[in-house]
This record gives sequence, C-alpha cells and structure tokens, in this order.
Amino acid sequence: MEGHRIARREAGFIVYPVISRRSGGLSVGINLFPDRKVCSFDCPYCEVFPFESDHSFTVGAMERELRLELADAAEDGFEVKDLCFSGNGEPTLSPDFFPALEAATRVRDVSVPGASLVLITNGTTLLDPGIERGLRLAASGGGQRLDIWLKLDAGTEAWYRRIDRASVPFAALMDAFGRFAATAPFTLQTMVCAVGGEAPPAAEAEALEATVLRLCAGGGGRPNVRRVQIYGKARSAPEDPLAEPLAPAFLEARAASLREALRRAGYDVPVSVFP
Ligand code: SF4
Repeated sequence: MEGHRIARREAGFIVYPVISRRSGGLSVGINLFPDRKVCSFDCPYCEVFPFESDHSFTVGAMERELRLELADAAEDGFEVKDLCFSGNGEPTLSPDFFPALEAATRVRDVSVPGASLVLITNGTTLLDPGIERGLRLAASGGGQRLDIWLKLDAGTEAWYRRIDRASVPFAALMDAFGRFAATAPFTLQTMVCAVGGEAPPAAEAEALEATVLRLCAGGGGRPNVRRVQIYGKARSAPEDPLAEPLAPAFLEARAASLREALRRAGYDVPVSVFP
C-alpha cells in the first residue's frame, strides 16, 4: 500500500489511499499539487522526492477521483477513517484549498459520512488573516468540522532552523499558533528525528513542552490542543541520511515527559507515539 501510495501521488494522481498509523486505518489522501512540490518548509525528513508531471489539479477532477476511490474502498470492504489533505506540500498554499474542502465535504457526507476530514499543515498560512479565518471557521464547524493536524517540530529557533529550514520567522509563527490556539481546536504533531547525526537536545525538548503548555493555556477552560502525536521518521527521504530515525525509546521518553508536564498543569490532553 505504501509503495502504491507514493507511486500514485508522484504519478500525478490527486487522490491516493494509504493505510495510516495515525488515522488508525484507511485514509484517503488528497493532493493539491499533482505536478510539483509546493511548500513553505524544507524539512530534511520530507519524503516528497523530486518529480515532475504535467497533471494539474482541478476541483472537478478531485471530486471524480474521490468518488471512484471511495467506491473501490467500499467494494473491497474497507472502512474509510478520513479524507486527508496532505500530498506534495502545504495544502493551504493552494488557491484551490477552500473550494476543494467544500467539495470533499459534500462527497464525504454522501459516500462516507462517518469519516473525518483532516488537514495536515505546517501552519505557516496562519500568518495570512484570510486563511486563518477560513481554517478557524472550518475547525470550529460542529459535526462538519475539519480536524487540523498542526505541525510543531521545534520549541527553539535553533532546532526549527535545522528540522524545518523555513524562511518564516519562528517568533511570528509561534505568535500565529498562539492566536489560533485561543479560538479553534486542533491536533499537534511533532516529528522527532535526528538531523545531521544529532538528536534534539534536552533544552529543545523542554522548550517544546513549554510551547505546548502555552498553547493549551490559550484555550481558556478547555485546551484547544485536543491531542499530541509524536511521530518518528518511518519513510525514506531524498536527503537521507541527513535526517535519521531515533530509537522508539527516545520518542517514548519524550512523550512520557510531555504527559507529565501536561498532567502537572492540569490538562487532560492525550499524547500518542508513532515511532
Ligand atoms: S512541511 Fe511537510 S511537505 Fe513541507 S517540507 Fe515539511 S514534510 Fe515536506
């Protein structure tokens, strides 16, 4: 399934199935960039290999592929856990993102009403007030709501520069996360891996815990951080071995420390590990 997923995505397909550890079953991916990678981060662990395709994205093509994929999944007896905007870059950088979300919601409601709608995002477009507002409304939309998985790989600027290699200033991004955390629910996802042969240092882990607590506090009575997913590098990447997986015990220790910090602060936020 994994090889199938990458082959389809890089061959220009818009919709691709994947058995996802973090979704707990079949996730149907939606790729808004079938022709090239478009992202505001340059993570050394990124699995998107360089590729070119003359395919292009249209909302109509996405709807057609989605209906076909969901019909195939039903025929094969799979339960679809979610429809997930991910693919070859940062989905919210596409001008088609919100129309595509509307269309995917329509298809979901008819074909797989029990499935979630998920957006995997690095959060950089939260600095754009229009996109921030759209995501806030989508994330707060009751039963129709979008489950936002927000990437938080670093607690310090030094590690952010190494693991995300973004041109977006770290302080501005953290301010945007703070504003969002005051208004809308989301899942935090943190990649824990070695970069250049070095694991994230202890000071980095402490700073990241402090950031998670700050984001939890922003929600008032109930934290808008609904869960934290710590995940490891499980797939190959074009820049290997610059980024390398760490031992599962390292990730478990990070999770145990974060759970304890959340417990001491009185927050009931689950922390899961996907080594
Ligand atoms: S944010 Fe995601 S798509 Fe962008 S470089 Fe990082 S891993 Fe790749």
